[in-house]
This record gives sequence, structure tokens and C-alpha cells, in this order.
Amino acid sequence: MVDVKHPFFSLPTAADRRDRWSWHLGRILGIPTRIHASFALVLVWIGISTWSAAHSSVAVALGLGFALAVFACVLLHEFGHALVARRFGIETRRITLLPIGGVAELEREPSDPRAELWIAVAGPAVNLGIAATLALVGFALGSFASGGLLALVLSGLVWANLMLGLFNLVPAFPMDGGRVLRALASKRVGPVRATQIAAKLGRYLAVGFGVWGLFGGQPVLVLVAAFVWFAAGRELKRVRNRPAPPAGNRVIYVWRG
Ligand SMILES: [Zn+2]
Repeated sequence: MVDVKHPFFSLPTAADRRDRWSWHLGRILGIPTRIHASFALVLVWIGISTWSAAHSSVAVALGLGFALAVFACVLLHEFGHALVARRFGIETRRITLLPIGGVAELEREPSDPRAELWIAVAGPAVNLGIAATLALVGFALGSFASGGLLALVLSGLVWANLMLGLFNLVPAFPMDGGRVLRALASKRVGPVRATQIAAKLGRYLAVGFGVWGLFGGQPVLVLVAAFVWFAAGRELKRVRNRPAPPAGNRVIYVWRG
């Protein structure tokens, strides 16, 4: 049955196009979806590094195709959050793909810990589901045993989705795992204390990510660490100043990762 309210795809509206620093893909299931312009730098970097390693245009095309497939999986992760949020009556203003991952901007914060738990779990669950499906396809086709290009692409995508699913479940608030922790803890100690526990743990883990990223040569991890550090700090400040936000407040609620 066609959902008239949210068709699978529609063109971006003039309001969606207001941000000139993004490519507007259109509205997918009613949600404006865009790719930030800085994403082009990632593609250029992948193109240059693949060319300098392999000196082959086929390798460059494969590298870019693989990167786009991984980012499509990140997009599906964000839609996991957005569609479960919709089930709880929370719409998503837009989804943006950035070089460090995706962002779903929910129109309000889930006031019920149960909603936060399911919205948080949905993103990583999408990636773990994709990993399991592609692994089954690979085994069914016998491609893993025979090796070759298909096996390389499939195993690469299985690995990437496992990493996306498991990394986002690390309990570093405001990453998904941190939100799961907060939702579970708030049943026992209330939302304010649960936010403090999750945000403080997020900050400790951010330091760990930062050190790992710096010494392991992973610049993206350093960016994620900075994001987690500042976002956890902002959330700590918020609960200190305004312990009980009015239910259904209409601030845009940024759901990263
Ligand atoms: Zn997520």
C-alpha cells in the first residue's frame, strides 16, 4: 500500500534547498535527505590515495564505489533511527551525511526512556542486519570460498557494517550506545542522574578515542572524540540548568551517528 503522506521519494522543496553547502538528494519517505559538501573531500582523498597505491582507474572506481556503498549503509542507519522515531510520534526534520557519519535531526527529544532506547537501538540494528544478510548472501553464492572481487566487496561491506553497528553501540553518550545506557539507567535512577552517568562516561571514552585516534593515526576518530566530548558536556550543562525539560519541547534534537 502506498503511504500517501510519506511517498518513498519526492523532489526536494525550495525550503529544503536553502542550505547551499549540501547536495539535496530529495525527500526519502518524507524526510529531506542531503549530503554535506565537505563529503566531496572524502571522495577526493579516497581517489588520490587509491591512485597512488594502485595506479589504476579501475581501482579508483572500485574504491569510490565502495565508499559510496558504505555511506549508503550510514544513511540506512539514520533512517533506522528516523523511522522508529516516527513510530513514537517524532518526525525527523532532515538527515545529513557528513564525512564523520550521519546526523538525523529529530523535531523533539524523546521524553519516554523506552522511546529513546528503541530509537537508539534501531540504527546499529540496521547495520548488524545488513552485515548478517550480506554474509548469508556471500556464503549462499559460495563467493567467500571462491575468492575474487565479489568476495572482496561483500566481505568488506560485512566488516564495515559490523564496525558501524558495534562502534555506535559503545556507551559514549551521545552516541547510540550511550543513549541506550541512559535509557536503561533512567528507569533506575531517573533521567537527570542517568544523563549525568552517561555523559560522564561519554567524556572518559572521548579521551580514550582521542588518544587512540592521535597515536593510531585515525583522524576521523579524533573528530568523533571532539564531538562526543563537547556534546556530552553540553548535555551535562543542560541537565544542570534545566533538569526537567518540558515534555515535547520543540527544539531540534540532533541525533548523531
Ligand atoms: Zn546511530
